[in-house]
Amino acid sequence: MKTYWFYFEPTVFVSLKSNGLLLYDTITGKMLEYSEPRILRFVKKLVSPANRGVVAIHDALLNDHFLGPFIREIREYFMGDLIDTSYSKQKPVRFMVEPVVEYDSKGLRYAPYPSIGEEFTGTLHSIYVYINNTCSQNCTICGYAYRQFPCCTMSRKKREKRQELDISLMDKMLDELGSDSMVRWHIQGGNPFEYSMFGELIERMKRLKTPIVFYCHYLNLWGNEKKIDRLNEVKVTLKLIVTFPLDKKNWVRGLRCFERGEPSLKFFFRFLAKAIL
Ligand code: SF4
Repeated sequence: MKTYWFYFEPTVFVSLKSNGLLLYDTITGKMLEYSEPRILRFVKKLVSPANRGVVAIHDALLNDHFLGPFIREIREYFMGDLIDTSYSKQKPVRFMVEPVVEYDSKGLRYAPYPSIGEEFTGTLHSIYVYINNTCSQNCTICGYAYRQFPCCTMSRKKREKRQELDISLMDKMLDELGSDSMVRWHIQGGNPFEYSMFGELIERMKRLKTPIVFYCHYLNLWGNEKKIDRLNEVKVTLKLIVTFPLDKKNWVRGLRCFERGEPSLKFFFRFLAKAIL
């Protein structure tokens, strides 16, 4: 009889309730839901503090009427895998993702004026605000990248539909967090320079005490010199997203936008595996 270590990938978020299981792959966006009690019991054991997301199983379990198809489905979507225990007698180490955010979901759902609430703000470290979904670039991973790291994004399917953050929501967030808040703000698009309320946004950002990170693709710089100048009015780090192959002409042209002074600049080089390209 063979034995295997079964595990979920660390990028898979597991939400287990008494009558349902949701698995969400943060890379592909694939969601799987189960309600079969045998599967729920198996996953409960798998994610228990004692097992930390890895359990040993016998190969006979792969023929189980419920667990066999479950494990095959997990492997099919690259959300988990089996390792022959002969390759690793020691249980493999897997880091579990454990959100520590507190929030009052019931309150949010039923409150006449929904608010993220004070308890939440006490543990909030960073806030990522997507101000628009308009961008004329054509990055392969647009719409996916933000699931793995802070990045501009917009869903390709939604490209035809222009969406923008209502500036009054920004006011609401600022009011709720308070002007003394130490929360770090990350402003992302689309192309944030195409945000129609850009000037108003800068005025709002002047209220913030903590540094603001502003994300922009280097190909979106040229032609926006005036708006880049306005960024100097606030405490901003501009994170320039650089994708490859580099468009040398526009790279040089884009960097010329900073000749008259620049916000603090950081470069974010985005490399993709050949398989994704
Ligand atoms: S620059 Fe950003 S928003 Fe624009 S296509 Fe690329 S990933 Fe998407």
